[in-house]
Amino acid sequence: MRGLFKGLHVWKRFEQRAPNKPLLALWSIGRCINGQVRLVPFRQVDREVGELIREFGHPGVHIRPEYPFWRLRNDGIWEVTCADTVGVTSSGDAHRRDLFSPNVLGGFVEGIYLALCADTSLAEEIGYSLARAHFPPTRQEEVLEATGIAPKLAPVRKSCQYARDSNFRRAVLTAYNFGCAVCGFAVHLEDDARRSVPPIALDAAHIRWHQARGPARVQNGIALCALHHRLFDYGAFTLSHRLTVVVAESTRGTGSNEWLWRFAGQPLSTALKPDSRPDPVFLDWHLRNVFRSPDGSNQIHPQ
Ligand SMILES: [Zn+2]
Repeated sequence: MRGLFKGLHVWKRFEQRAPNKPLLALWSIGRCINGQVRLVPFRQVDREVGELIREFGHPGVHIRPEYPFWRLRNDGIWEVTCADTVGVTSSGDAHRRDLFSPNVLGGFVEGIYLALCADTSLAEEIGYSLARAHFPPTRQEEVLEATGIAPKLAPVRKSCQYARDSNFRRAVLTAYNFGCAVCGFAVHLEDDARRSVPPIALDAAHIRWHQARGPARVQNGIALCALHHRLFDYGAFTLSHRLTVVVAESTRGTGSNEWLWRFAGQPLSTALKPDSRPDPVFLDWHLRNVFRSPDGSNQIHPQ
């Protein structure tokens, strides 16, 4: 059962992130945990999973819940009733209008649904591992909450990624002289002997996400304070090849001037050694897959 979810076929064209299938699977796992019925009309998936794709999906891409609703069948965990009444395009996708027929319902195949309902800790475990596999740590908790898998404020179980990444963390924080690359935030406490102890709220962020096969190398890392790490993973800003801060035009609100706009166009706060500079390949990945450009113009191919 775990293997079926692990092997979820995620379509990656030109390395583009495609989290739609995992989002539909997570939403359905949440329904099992919360004792809801197995088969649901597409209209409901369109509305509720559409919201999830808008919040957690690929930026700048049309919201198309019909793709995972139809394609998840190929992974052996999902069924669609009366599928033979649904017209199919030349690329094998369902005609959206046909999915709105009242006879067309979708859900986990019965064996999987019953097993997940009967063992909610297994369902949670699969949900957590799906979240870890497809979203960075800054977003895992939110996606688990939004899909009803984790109760609000429940801590996300730590993954072994943290232990594996301790060398990465040390290398990145050292390269950035233990300060946020954007704002320079570098607060630490001293112990009784006046020795400084590790920096507070300073992260070694992956530029290309670990979940997207981003390597744990210093050229794929950037030291960011907790706030700028989260803003970076949300795509509120990215870095140019010249390592200047590029802010998403849609970024608004109290604090946005102080914490983002005043750094727009500015170089990083730390002078980096040449071999520690972020690799443009990873910066390009972030630009295309995470950064929230106003019109989706950073997208090479729509999903
Ligand atoms: Zn910062």
